Amino acid sequence: MIEPGATIGIVGGGQLGRMLSVAAAQLGYRCHIYDPHERPVAADIAAEFTRGDFSNVDELRRFGDSVDVVTYEFENLPAAPLTHLGDKLRPGTRSLEVAQDRAEEKSFIERTGARVAPWRRADSLQDVQAAVAELGCPLVLKTRRYGYDGKGQAWVREPAEAASAWGAIGEQPAVAETGVAFQAEFSVVVARGKHGNIAFFDLPENRHEDGILRRSSVPASSAVLEHGPSARAMAAGIAEALGHIGVLTVEFFACPEGPLVNEIAPRVHNSGHWTIEGAATSQFEQHIRAICNLPLGSTALRSRAVTMDNLIGDDVLRWPELVSEPGASLHLYGKGAPRPGRKMGHVTRVRT
Ligand code: AMP
Repeated sequence: MIEPGATIGIVGGGQLGRMLSVAAAQLGYRCHIYDPHERPVAADIAAEFTRGDFSNVDELRRFGDSVDVVTYEFENLPAAPLTHLGDKLRPGTRSLEVAQDRAEEKSFIERTGARVAPWRRADSLQDVQAAVAELGCPLVLKTRRYGYDGKGQAWVREPAEAASAWGAIGEQPAVAETGVAFQAEFSVVVARGKHGNIAFFDLPENRHEDGILRRSSVPASSAVLEHGPSARAMAAGIAEALGHIGVLTVEFFACPEGPLVNEIAPRVHNSGHWTIEGAATSQFEQHIRAICNLPLGSTALRSRAVTMDNLIGDDVLRWPELVSEPGASLHLYGKGAPRPGRKMGHVTRVRT
């Protein structure tokens, strides 16, 4: 057990690192942020900050030596340098490697017995055209690496769009995946401890716009809830197969024939922000508990219904109105001037 008073290293200094640091501080831990930016938003909250490149092995080693355990708050990190952190890194690099490459991720998920939408590797325009011929349209092309919030994606709605979509994603190695006519989107946010103990949060139903999460709602609709048991079993199977320690998020499409996994995030997730006010233990505290080998906390709901709305770009300018709204919990990430598409904060409303 890593006892309160110890220092938790967090690779990445964005809003997830910031909210992890708040939760860690509540349990008496100190946090040390490692990030290449000059002033990452998590550093405002943490006890220590090292500015360093994610591929700088010497700097990462020094950072690892100065802390008791290390975690990461986003997955687009080179995995090889992090292997030097050894057992201190939780979750390990396996979770990272699988989650950061969409082709690897889909094959891995299928090997665990979970289902994904029909897909093909697409390393050339010929591959895209072959995928169109085999899977039909609509298809979505997604770059294998460095895609997030709908970035690195292009739709092929009819065969003639194959070339323009391939151009739109920068002709990079990609996956071509069937466009799913889903009933709803939802996620399973699960925590797994060192000894395989597991705890699930209630399922948030997620609404995206332009590839970015807008709202998560709990409880989810019946179209989602009927898939709860099988989706949870799939998420547990994935966490187990990865040997994951910490919070893992599995995003799903709810389809009449059952849930399909869209993607996994080896970390706390935007669709779990509602847990700060809505659950007995937040996803952030749960992650800290898991990586420090503390008992996992209760995930019981603290209210009948919860909604979490993201404040994207200029949405954040509404903060004076939101901060005056009775019962609304406003979270601002301290990112300064809003930029289009940037997650600036969120607001959670609970109904008791
Ligand atoms: P992703 O970055 O893969 O999570 O995609 C962002 C969003 O785009 C998803 O949450 C969906 O709303 C939409 N999307 C992604 N893949 C598909 C698909 N195969 N079929 C339908 N919609 C999709």
